[in-house]
Amino acid sequence: MSKSLQAIRGMNDILPEQTPLWRYFEGTVARLLDNYGYRQIRMPIVEFTELFKRSIGEVTDIVEKEMYTFDDRNGDSLTLRPEGTAACVRAVLEHGITGGGQVQKLWYVGPMFRHERPQKGRYRQFHQIGLEVFNLEGPDIDAELIVMTWRLWGELGLRDAVKLELNSLGTSESRGRYREALVEFLSAHIDKLDEDSQRRLKTNPLRVLDTKNPETQAILVDAPKMADYLDDESRAHFEGLKARLDAVGIPYVINPKLVRGLDYYSKTVFEWVTDKLGAQGTVCAGGRYDGLVEQMGGKPTPGVGFAMGIERLVLMLEALDKVPEQLSRQVDVYLCAFGEAAELAALSLSERIRDQLPNLRLQINAGAGSFKSQFKKADKSGALYALILGDDELAQQVVGFKPLRGQGEQQSIAWDALAAHLATCVVQG
Ligand code: ATP
Ligand code: MG
Repeated sequence: MSKSLQAIRGMNDILPEQTPLWRYFEGTVARLLDNYGYRQIRMPIVEFTELFKRSIGEVTDIVEKEMYTFDDRNGDSLTLRPEGTAACVRAVLEHGITGGGQVQKLWYVGPMFRHERPQKGRYRQFHQIGLEVFNLEGPDIDAELIVMTWRLWGELGLRDAVKLELNSLGTSESRGRYREALVEFLSAHIDKLDEDSQRRLKTNPLRVLDTKNPETQAILVDAPKMADYLDDESRAHFEGLKARLDAVGIPYVINPKLVRGLDYYSKTVFEWVTDKLGAQGTVCAGGRYDGLVEQMGGKPTPGVGFAMGIERLVLMLEALDKVPEQLSRQVDVYLCAFGEAAELAALSLSERIRDQLPNLRLQINAGAGSFKSQFKKADKSGALYALILGDDELAQQVVGFKPLRGQGEQQSIAWDALAAHLATCVVQG
């Protein structure tokens, strides 16, 4: 195929074989969020570039090198959203729905775009489910976010495969003091830092903590610790969070080097990480951003949120064999009809059955065909049962009811009794 007719590198089709697992995952999360009182918000995929520069920060990886930015026909600079928080904050401000201290518990799902090096678990168009909470400043809500994800891992069968890492970045004042101390320390060792860290020391020094370079890591062992610079309020907040996680019995490790890539975090930051996906180990990440709304022109408004990467979680469900069995079957019953009169009867019968059993997955044969070819299609559909309607059945107002997965013999069932019979033998979703 010519290159121009292929999908863009790092942007994937999600094929029909894969969508059942996506829908299962998204459906599970959506139900959970409903149950905890979160409401969905849908933002545009494109925003003014300025929004991301202002919120994410000019000297972050995302803004420096990962954004899809272009001029539209009016000459405005637009960007495909690389994450959801910025647009969500913009939306709540624009609609005034966090004014006067109104609490908002919001979630969103959809594609995000970052120009990164594509590899397993890392794509240029990827999907997140994220949530943001506004106007709640205590550790109780930080804990709720984590408790909710813990419940999710439980429902999905992933609890043993993920680990929670926590840190506190303090308020922007205490973080500022820590930053100074870190810069002073690192500047004394600047010759031994890797090139990236040397650059970050000037632009975004906390990010040096995040380095993968072993020599720089060795130097960091003696670096000042963020925990020693925490203000009392942040310290109490962090203790409050840990007490709640302990109360529920959620294990965690404190990772003092966890700083997150975006500028806007304060106090709590956390990541759920796994060792089942190679290098792309973070499946869910978030934290508190009490200064962000004000930084974007609103009144001071505490905020906290997280986002999870759907691709990575879907990969995990597959890798750990946690794909529910029932997802492999998309059809319960396949209806075969032979001859035009039988086809007409089959259509009206199937519509009656759908009225009576709205959750039944009933596929009706299209394109006619011989006995042999229709049975082949019935079998291939994955259905548990085939229904057969030919001239004889038509005359007697019955259907042939044939188990396709070896549960008993074919039998004849009257049209009027069919819905009741199906209800007893097909577990409907
Ligand atoms: P990473 O360190 O893996 O680059 P990040 O810190 O840039 O992640 P966030 O901005 O916090 O990621 O996004 C939240 C989640 O979205 C990540 O934990 C991950 O699961 C997912 N994610 C981020 N970038 C990608 C990507 N390029 N492809 C697939 N999933 C991604
Ligand atoms: Mg990244």
